[in-house]
Amino acid sequence: MKITEIIVHPMFVPAARPVWTAHEKMAGDSVTLVEIRTDAGITGTGEIHFGPQKAVCDLVYRFAECLTRKDPLGHADIWQLLFSSTSPRPGGLGGWDGLPAPLPRGQRPQAMAAIAGIDIALWDIKGKAANMPVYKLLGGSRTSVFTYATGGFYVEGAPLDSCAGELAGYAARGYRAVKLKTGAMSMADEITRVRLTREAIGPEIMLMLDMNAPYDVEDCIRFAHAVAPYDICWLEEPLFWHLQPADFVRLANASPIPLAHGEREWTRFTVRDFIDSGALKFVQFDSTRHAGFTESLRIAHYAEMNGVLIAPHSATHFHAHLVSAFGDAAFAAESIGDPARHPIEDGLYTTGIEFRDGRVHLNDRPGFGLEIDWDFAKSVRNNA
Ligand SMILES: [Mg+2]
Repeated sequence: MKITEIIVHPMFVPAARPVWTAHEKMAGDSVTLVEIRTDAGITGTGEIHFGPQKAVCDLVYRFAECLTRKDPLGHADIWQLLFSSTSPRPGGLGGWDGLPAPLPRGQRPQAMAAIAGIDIALWDIKGKAANMPVYKLLGGSRTSVFTYATGGFYVEGAPLDSCAGELAGYAARGYRAVKLKTGAMSMADEITRVRLTREAIGPEIMLMLDMNAPYDVEDCIRFAHAVAPYDICWLEEPLFWHLQPADFVRLANASPIPLAHGEREWTRFTVRDFIDSGALKFVQFDSTRHAGFTESLRIAHYAEMNGVLIAPHSATHFHAHLVSAFGDAAFAAESIGDPARHPIEDGLYTTGIEFRDGRVHLNDRPGFGLEIDWDFAKSVRNNA
């Protein structure tokens, strides 16, 4: 089998009402679909959840030039070929050896995102070629995977307690675990939001906090002790972006709550150092942002060996396959509680995962089991 064509489909749906995390405004839903066609008639698709969308699409097309006629089942070779374009190589200056010239340093995050979308599409092809779902390719047999609902995004003018009712609503829909966005308000207000949420969901539902990197070590230790009485499962992305594994170790040694981290790391090499530090109980990676499903698998195996639970970030329809295959080494695949937050995923796929009873249910279709509504894809195309 050979790759014949790679096409990108940038999509965007503006939010009826923008929301914020502690760090940034989310003006809408942005997904770049990567389609890889082969001479065997098999087509695979992957997604990229990273931008700027135009820059990422340009890089996918640049990579595509050297992938035509390559075997799509050689996903590790293709991964290495593309990744090698982020560093110098002997004879590689100017692309004179027929491969992409070493990319400018500023394009590294977009390159890792482009690799992500291509790599996920290759796994979809692999499953379709083997006529089995990806979770079975990985050795998994569970079609029911634990999930949790993320919510509590910030809305301008909303009262402090709006997050509590929202997350209690997810629990009422069957979720056994929920995750609250925190970190945007004063520490006192955030402690109040956590208390109100715990009171609303009751004592039985697991509660995690997604902080989006708002604190230094000392402030985070204070915060951790203040919210510990509300039975918190993890603190996610607790420290400023520039703080390193050694800082996480200082926090972990003083925090009564375990730490989760990793969704913004570009490669397995920095995640390795966080795992080696011993500071994490949960590791999060995102196949759609950086380096794809192949790199996520490498991280998952390393985490399993080191007793760190895997809890991949978002993109449930891909990551649930991986969680299925890791048994007790996996905690859960993440879901976004409010479907209005992901209109593209809802409209793009006519088959796929099903949320029921706090779990994600996988189908037995080959690849990632996703059938695409191309009319919808055209209707939300981002031509900007
Ligand atoms: Mg997060």
